[in-house]
Amino acid sequence: MLHSPIYMDNHATTRTDPRVVDAMLPYFTDRYGNAASKNHVFGWQAEEAVKAARRQIASIIGATDREIVFTSGATESNNLAIKGAAQANRPQGNHIITSVTEHKAVLDPCKRLEREGFQVSWLPVDRFGLIDPEAVERAITPKTILLSIMAANNEIGTLQPIQEIGRICKAKSVLFHTDATQAVGKAPIDVEEMGIDILSFSAHKMYGPKGVGALYVRRRDPRVRLEPLFDGGGHEHGLRSGTLPVPLVVGFGVACDLCAGETVEEARRLTALRDRLHRAIASRLDDVSLNGHPTKRLPGNLNLSFAGVKGEALLISMKDVAVSSGSACTSAQSAPSHVLKALGLPDDLVDASLRFGLGRFNTEEEIDFVADLVLRNVMAMRAQSPIWQMTHR
Ligand SMILES: *Cc1c(COP(=O)(O)O)cnc(C)c1O
Repeated sequence: MLHSPIYMDNHATTRTDPRVVDAMLPYFTDRYGNAASKNHVFGWQAEEAVKAARRQIASIIGATDREIVFTSGATESNNLAIKGAAQANRPQGNHIITSVTEHKAVLDPCKRLEREGFQVSWLPVDRFGLIDPEAVERAITPKTILLSIMAANNEIGTLQPIQEIGRICKAKSVLFHTDATQAVGKAPIDVEEMGIDILSFSAHKMYGPKGVGALYVRRRDPRVRLEPLFDGGGHEHGLRSGTLPVPLVVGFGVACDLCAGETVEEARRLTALRDRLHRAIASRLDDVSLNGHPTKRLPGNLNLSFAGVKGEALLISMKDVAVSSGSACTSAQSAPSHVLKALGLPDDLVDASLRFGLGRFNTEEEIDFVADLVLRNVMAMRAQSPIWQMTHR
């Protein structure tokens, strides 16, 4: 049986895995202590649970538990990483390097720093969304203190050459931050192998709860210094004051464990489903183009442009399927995708794009249903377009 509506917007958020919810529940109702309470069993239980979760979360990126700082999500992690590193390293220099296809939660903190007197270099990408590591190397100056490049893009799924970029940063002694929100749990990430100094991720993008994230902050080779965003009780080594949301932290830990146990197998399954969807659409429709890199891409990502069709109208025509369009909200605001524009896509193809984000709970049956629906609706919309009819006789 096909259950509608069908969810294919897993880059925006994911369903909290029922196993994650089960693990969280006791920490709302019975074990509701404050993890910072040192004087009674409620506090100790909470602290134990946080400790176990911290290990699970550290382990999925090859870090140690003391290097994990809990936050409210990747937006806060990115802000803490970028503003925190900029402020703490101001005496060493004022130059930051990032790329034009980053998430707004990286772009906007960098813009704010620019207004405050920092210098920001915005690296371009090629037509697949890839950064050229040599361009990274050329952009580094004696004043560069931080480089921030995402691991996987949230719109087109492009996977950046993180290891190469990490090597360059190491050689030049520049701090390397990566927003790995889309990559953790879906593609292999190891902070040691990849030379990553600071890394942001978020539970709700990997089948955990909304409202909790983490920042990995390297403790040795080098020991990274960050200025905290807020002051208070000095939790999380003084980097993030505030009572820990123990149930969310517990859920985040279990979510990491579940992903870690099945990364390779799940990537294979999602790649097969994704390619099936792509094939089913592209083999039966003309003028469909893939946005992003054909192979260096997240397993669950399929971003297509349907020439002659407005993505937003197509989206509305498929009201039983949850997907995103390149001109609709990728954030709280609605504007044409800065990522698709950066690939050099003309405006009409930016507007003609749809992003399918496949995840753990999608089935082959759903893929076939969605492919048929897309096919039918695109053909109907093109048939109604006088311009399309005139040019495609
Ligand atoms: C979703 C997302 C964010 C924001 O994460 P929140 O936890 O929702 O704040 C940041 N970066 C990327 C790449 C994302 O996909």
